[in-house]
Amino acid sequence: MSTAANSQDSPAPDPRRRVPRTDAVLADPRVAPLRARLHPDVVKRQVQRAQQRARAGELPPEEVAEAVVQALPADGCSMRPVLNATGVVLHTNLGRAPLSPAAVRALTVAAGYVDVEFDTGNGSRARRGRAALDALLARVPRAEDALVVNNGAAALVLAASALARDREIVVSRGELVEIGDGFRIPELLESTGARLREVGTTNRTHLADYRAAVGPRTGFVLKIHPSNFLVQGFTSSVPVRDLAGLGVPVVADIGSGLLSPEPLLPDEPDAAGWLAQGAGLVTASGDKLLGGPQAGLVLGRAELVHALRRHPLARALRVDKLTLAALEATVSDGATVTEHALRADPGRLRRRAEALAAELAAGGLTAPVVPSDGLVGGGGAPGLTLPGWAVELPAHLAAVLRHGDPCVVARVDDGRCLLDPRCVPDGEDERLARAVLAAASRAPEGGPSCM
Ligand SMILES: *Cc1c(COP(=O)(O)O)cnc(C)c1O
Repeated sequence: MSTAANSQDSPAPDPRRRVPRTDAVLADPRVAPLRARLHPDVVKRQVQRAQQRARAGELPPEEVAEAVVQALPADGCSMRPVLNATGVVLHTNLGRAPLSPAAVRALTVAAGYVDVEFDTGNGSRARRGRAALDALLARVPRAEDALVVNNGAAALVLAASALARDREIVVSRGELVEIGDGFRIPELLESTGARLREVGTTNRTHLADYRAAVGPRTGFVLKIHPSNFLVQGFTSSVPVRDLAGLGVPVVADIGSGLLSPEPLLPDEPDAAGWLAQGAGLVTASGDKLLGGPQAGLVLGRAELVHALRRHPLARALRVDKLTLAALEATVSDGATVTEHALRADPGRLRRRAEALAAELAAGGLTAPVVPSDGLVGGGGAPGLTLPGWAVELPAHLAAVLRHGDPCVVARVDDGRCLLDPRCVPDGEDERLARAVLAAASRAPEGGPSCM
């Protein structure tokens, strides 16, 4: 890149010289209209980024303006919608649960001024988000009260802060879960100033272990559903029913947010069930099996929920009106998108996969329909597969599909690229077929692919 190294007689032009100046890029007819719509600093930052890339030789100088346009989304949000063809219902990297149409409509309502914390009857302050809480209590009548915080982790932090600060949380060594991205529930709890009193072993914990540990320093006994792993073989754990007799509150983290039993997932605990067994509080996530927005649900005995609601941290962990609106709509919904994907009929999935394969064949791409198991995902129901069907494509297409428009995320399994219709919205199958044909024409097998 150095001019001196190229030739003494006619030094190559320094590409840095050719990088257009900021005012020239801003005046470009493609960039200028953006400045009417977007904050000038946001536009300028993308200009500087593109200039840097051009200086580094990553971008031809004449493409700087176009790169700025590409980097600035037309509707102000650069998250790209993805067609989830992985067959994984709750894909953490794809935002876990997709919201149902009712929840999306609720978000639109909540976007404006709303009575989230206001009684329109008498014009005074009202309990924040009471409608969402009412909906939750309608679905889990055994809970005396409910509270919604930022996520499942926040619910645990709040419970530990309000009920066990400078006290002990008694918990089984078999339930000390890492939830993902290096975050661990035991460390989360200790960060509140609570002390963990670990009992039992990785594979076996008995009621006597808990009984020996419970005492005047106990804040609560914690039951955690080990949602993302299975311990098999010589194992035993103590059900909530037995922990409830220890004379201290039981806080039970069900993880995935089933409010009542789901016959398809017999090993997943649900809020109603663990409350019926005597848990004082149940905590859960809103964006796993419940199929709603990111949220932490707390359900249970009135005085315990009250202690959490009045703790100073509750203010720091509270959710916004958008979450409350989407949560209420989700909890009131007859069947969420997540439930549809979970319960999808294998026969119907097979017909959709066959129709997709037929469309591809008509476009000149032969692809077999193969059995393919879906997964709950999101760290839930690790031992369970959901029977289904997929279209198998040449493996090299997975990367090409991700770079397409729409962006399609396929399941890459054992060197195969599988398109599973389970989580592809009804009515999007044709778009999916067109995306695959476009990908195949951009990167024919054996030809160059984008990666
Ligand atoms: C997912 C999960 C959490 C964390 O919930 P977030 O909503 O992701 O914060 C905590 N406990 C269990 C058992 C979980 O499965």
